[in-house]
Amino acid sequence: MGKMKDGKRWCPYHQEYHELSEFGKNATTKDGYANWCRRASSEYVKNRYNSDKKYREERIKRATKYYRENRDRMVDAAKQRRERYKKNNRGE
Ligand SMILES: [Zn+2]
Repeated sequence: MGKMKDGKRWCPYHQEYHELSEFGKNATTKDGYANWCRRASSEYVKNRYNSDKKYREERIKRATKYYRENRDRMVDAAKQRRERYKKNNRGE
């Protein structure tokens, strides 16, 4: 839960207090507000994506891995469908 002072909320990203309206809602925190202000969240992702080559590669790698895993699963499902179809049509 974020620190409060004079009705403002602490933002660990900017290291300063902001108005509550600057924070987005987040159901997972105790007070219902995101830990970082809206600007922090978007700046963080943007900066990280632009400056951190590893982070960018990691995201691409993850997407590629996901695609590969799901493609295998889809191929398997198609294979199983074919097997079932063959079984069902045997002896006709
Ligand atoms: Zn902030």
